[in-house]
Amino acid sequence: MDSTLNLTDKLETQLSKDIISALVLCSKTAFEAEYKIFLIGGVVRDLILNRKIADIDVTVEGDALKFCHILADKKHCKILQVQNDLKTVKACFKNNVIIDFASTRQEFYPRRGHLPVVVRIGCTLEEDVYRRDFTINALAISLNENNYGDVIDYTGGVKDIENKKLRVLHDNSFNEDPSRIIRALKFAARLNFHRDEHTKELQRKYLTTQMHDDISWSRIKSELKQTFSLNIPRAYDMFLANDTYKLIYGEKPDIKGLEIKTLVDKYSPDYTWLVYLGTVLSNQKIIEAFCFTRAEKKIFTDKEFLLNNNKLNLHSSNYEIYKFFEKRSVESVMIYYLLTKRKEPLIYLEKLMKIRVELNGDDLKNMGILEGKKIGAMLDEILKKKLTGKIITKADEERFVKQQIK
Ligand code: ATP
Ligand code: MG
Repeated sequence: MDSTLNLTDKLETQLSKDIISALVLCSKTAFEAEYKIFLIGGVVRDLILNRKIADIDVTVEGDALKFCHILADKKHCKILQVQNDLKTVKACFKNNVIIDFASTRQEFYPRRGHLPVVVRIGCTLEEDVYRRDFTINALAISLNENNYGDVIDYTGGVKDIENKKLRVLHDNSFNEDPSRIIRALKFAARLNFHRDEHTKELQRKYLTTQMHDDISWSRIKSELKQTFSLNIPRAYDMFLANDTYKLIYGEKPDIKGLEIKTLVDKYSPDYTWLVYLGTVLSNQKIIEAFCFTRAEKKIFTDKEFLLNNNKLNLHSSNYEIYKFFEKRSVESVMIYYLLTKRKEPLIYLEKLMKIRVELNGDDLKNMGILEGKKIGAMLDEILKKKLTGKIITKADEERFVKQQIK
């Protein structure tokens, strides 16, 4: 165990004064009430790496709920949320400092790949860290008065951070929770780390011989969303090169992450992560298992539609191109381009997508066209002219309609 590293100075420089004040209150209270408490997980990793700290997670050796009640009784914080089964608490300190408290716990996976069952709440810190995913996420910093700021490293996480290595804590890790395969991808991309050889081998083994369907797809979806929302090309390239895509029964396309990033940066779709994922995922069972929202799911149905109903050819007019893509989500048009490398989806994205007829049916009625059918036909004529660039402004549209009526 490496307890030589002390990060008191780093805590002071990298965390805000308000956060430090809150942690000092926790520390004093823990001393008085004889609790042992620690910063844990991502916050420790990111402190060592000098990265921006996202959330402050504190683990309490024992019952975090009881500990937080003591803090609240002393008016140090307000309790915002409690999860009673796990004994976790979200609390708010002065100046809106939010801290998540968890009780140390051991977990057990009765069915591989499913959510774990908690075995024992209030175990030792050492027992707690072994349920975690990678050594770099299994580090703690003591907030206790006798060794405040000491890094507690039971698994070699500090050395792995120095060597930019992602290493699982035991050989059964991916079997217990295959979403860790995607978490590895996320951390590799975000931190520019690499999986160590043994972890790679365990992943390979899982994907070739041990893979099973009966797993928590919601966790996998959530990790994929976080990973591809980063919009980092290397995440996608690794996803394909490491065979990670096999986890979702994907099909490997001939696409580079950079091509996707370029497209995404240019057209800013709502669902960046689904442009990445949509180039790989077609398996209906997995699409169902991911329980997409209606808008998310449409991207996949639109993609299938575009791939299976293409009537465009080299001579297609702008109007035909427009009509083919008009009702499809922009993400699906991008996926279609990436998979087929045809030029029409690019013409659509680049030139046609934003074109709209500004006059509406009422405008045309006011101008004297009364019959429904004729209104529709006229709007279509205006659209055709706009798509060829012969009409641009609303005034142009009105002029065109007047000419036609004459
Ligand atoms: P981020 O900066 O993305 O929030 P994080 O390391 O804080 O990174 P979280 O998803 O917030 O990640 O989880 C907090 C901690 O819980 C992790 O540091 C890790 O120790 C543990 N953890 C999260 N997910 C898993 C998992 N699937 N298996 C094992 N441990 C996990
Ligand atoms: Mg976190």
